Amino acid sequence: MRIGFGYDIHKLVSGRTLYIGGVVIPSDKGELGHSDGDVLIHALIDALLGAAALGDIGAYFPPEDPQYKGISSRILLVKTLTLLREKGYTIINIDCTVILEKPKLLPHIGNIRENLAHDLNLPCSSISIKSKTKEGLGFTGQEQAIEAYTIVLIQEQTA
Ligand code: MG
Repeated sequence: MRIGFGYDIHKLVSGRTLYIGGVVIPSDKGELGHSDGDVLIHALIDALLGAAALGDIGAYFPPEDPQYKGISSRILLVKTLTLLREKGYTIINIDCTVILEKPKLLPHIGNIRENLAHDLNLPCSSISIKSKTKEGLGFTGQEQAIEAYTIVLIQEQTA
């Protein structure tokens, strides 16, 4: 068993779509980013790579690389799963916290879990998504940013 942790933050700006776990969340602001800016999937990718000690998201999908401009982060997540599988790892479970002031994430959590379960070939029961506000405090509390924390457990396959 190996554990991994991931964190990400994106600036929230007008004129961008808010993607969280591959779900489009109706909002007047979205994440600024080279890809679709999906903060939750980026934190999840870092947690998965971290659990396998494979580096971080920037090493595999550099923001300078034009092939990743506007790309769906779900594609990057599936590529990450392939990297882990090549190393002989399977995912046990995932626990995530998304921090944003608004809108409320609760109505979308079922769809987010379904997306991640589909992309990672896991049951929804292995994927936990929680959301919190920052009670109006700091950049995230003032709706200038969105953050995500993720922790994962993976297992080395035995032959
Ligand atoms: Mg990011």
